[in-house]
Amino acid sequence: LLKVTHLHKEFGTNVVLKDINLSVKKGEVVVIIGPSGCGKSTFLRCLNGLEDIQGGVITVDGLPVEAGKRDITKLRQKIGMVFQSYELFPHMTVLENIILAPTKVQKRQKDEAVREALELLDKVGLSDKKDYYPRQLSGGQKQRVAIVRALLMHPEVILFDEVTAALDPEMVHEVLETMIALAKGGSTMLIVTHEMAFAKAVADRIVFLDKGDIVEETEDVAGFFNEPETDRAKKFLKTFS
Ligand code: ATP
Ligand code: MG
Repeated sequence: LLKVTHLHKEFGTNVVLKDINLSVKKGEVVVIIGPSGCGKSTFLRCLNGLEDIQGGVITVDGLPVEAGKRDITKLRQKIGMVFQSYELFPHMTVLENIILAPTKVQKRQKDEAVREALELLDKVGLSDKKDYYPRQLSGGQKQRVAIVRALLMHPEVILFDEVTAALDPEMVHEVLETMIALAKGGSTMLIVTHEMAFAKAVADRIVFLDKGDIVEETEDVAGFFNEPETDRAKKFLKTFS
C-alpha cells in the first residue's frame, strides 16, 4: 500500500534520511521510534508530500508522492496526518473543522459528511462537543477531534506524529485508546511515538531509526522490547526504563 525505496532527504548539507526502504501493507500498524532529531518527523512529512526529497521513490497506493506536484490533492486523500499541535482552525467549531475538507476538497454532500462526522465523534466520546470551538476543549479532546477529522477523509494510510507529546499525562490515555481502537479496526497506520508501552501494544512492526538510518526493523515486537539486536536500540530503550 505504501512503498518507500532509497529515500534520501537533506536540508542543505545536513543529510537527514539516508537510503530508507520501507513497505507497509494494508491494515498494518508500523511504529517508528528513535532518538530526538533522528528524522522521524521529516520522514512522515516526506511521505505526505510536505517535504521534497532528493532521492528515491515513495508511492501510496500506486500514486507517486512528489511535493508541490499537481497530484498533491489526490495524494492527501490517500494519506492523512495527525500532528502534535492539532492544527484545528480556531474560528470554526468542532463540526465545521471536521467536515471542511470532505465537503470542500472531496465535494461530498454536506448532510452526509455531517452524519458520518457525528457518528465518529460519538465513537470517540465527543458528540456533545460538536458546536464547541477548539479553545473550549482540552488538549486530549482537541487531539481526538483532529483524529476524527483525518478519518473522515477515508485515507488509505494515516500518519501520527507524536500526537500525545503536547498533552497532560491524564489526557494521553484517552488519545492512545482512540488509536488502539483504530488499529484494531484495521486501519493502516504509521505512528511516531515516545510512549513505549503503547508502541509495544499497538505495533505489528517496529522500525528503529537513528541518524537518518533504519537501524533495526522487526515484526517480533515483544522480542525487540525485551532484547533488541543492536547496541544503539539497547541504549535507546534504556533511556525509558
Ligand atoms: P523529535 O523526536 O525531536 O521530534 P525527529 O526525529 O522528529 O525528532 P526531525 O524533526 O525529523 O527529527 O529532524 C531531523 C533533522 O532534520 C534535525 O537535524 C533537524 O535539525 C533537521 N530539520 C528538520 N526540519 C528542518 C527544516 N525545515 N530545515 C532544516 N533542517 C531541518
Ligand atoms: Mg519529531
